Amino acid sequence: MAKAIFIRIRKTQRVTMAKIKEIEMVIVPPPVHMVGDGFRVHTFFPGHHFDQARMSPFYLLDYNSKFEFSPSETPRGVGVHPHKGFETVTIAYHGKVAHHDSAGNSGVIAEGDVQWMTAASGVLHKEYHEKEFSKKGGTFQMVQLWVNLPAIHKKAQPKYQPILHSEMGKYNLTENSGEINVIAGSYKGIEGSASTFTPIEMYDIRLNENASLNLSLPEHYNTSVLIIEGVVMVNNKKVDENHLVLFKNNGTDIEISALNKSIILLLSGEPINEPIFQYGPFLMNTRQEIEEAMNDFNSGKFGHLED
Ligand code: MN
Repeated sequence: MAKAIFIRIRKTQRVTMAKIKEIEMVIVPPPVHMVGDGFRVHTFFPGHHFDQARMSPFYLLDYNSKFEFSPSETPRGVGVHPHKGFETVTIAYHGKVAHHDSAGNSGVIAEGDVQWMTAASGVLHKEYHEKEFSKKGGTFQMVQLWVNLPAIHKKAQPKYQPILHSEMGKYNLTENSGEINVIAGSYKGIEGSASTFTPIEMYDIRLNENASLNLSLPEHYNTSVLIIEGVVMVNNKKVDENHLVLFKNNGTDIEISALNKSIILLLSGEPINEPIFQYGPFLMNTRQEIEEAMNDFNSGKFGHLED
């Protein structure tokens, strides 16, 4: 009798204690720098706290925290430049971003929308504040991610996926406590809109005051959450606006509860276990491939795009 009870207690403990995805670090927003004249960003990774593979398949996270841009007749932004070997994913929270590329794709994204551009074999693009937004000026807030591609997909055709907020897979939490907009991956059967080359979970989470949410993500996925708006408790730790939480690669479960109305970006993905060689706007596996990319760019193989 006594023996059976002992076993039952041990089993219970094992189940509850192994599941929480522990927090590795809460990172304060790094000092801002300008990308072109239109993006005033905190580069959370790669950088001081992050080896370049730490959040693989996500290579870079630039975050333009809320900033008031004054009116400008000439849209601010970044002129024509190349990318190769990865994808750029831009998420707008305030303001509007316009995109044009040499594959012939263009688009404007506004509050809550996402543009998912696959550079892969190589593309030229330019990224600007949208004209009318620029003329009026106003609050601008956005995220840009660089999502790495495995070697077998680095030569894929460039493509462009505009993902409007209104078209995203949406999971409504009970009692109007909030919603999960699934950008990529799936949440409780709700599929994300983006097609990805490797397994990625990317959610735009909106919680009302006092709402809470449980997430379960594979142990080996590299995972972090960025607090876009509000103050939240993450696994019982208080995290302020504009801070990033990096999780250890153990456990699966994350509990988030909102102390006030909040917006949270969740990033989680299966690591790409390949060598990384980055130079400027190119993200390849080896130095030789970087040299090839530069030669291709210099000889016009990335196509043409007007400034
Ligand atoms: Mn770019």
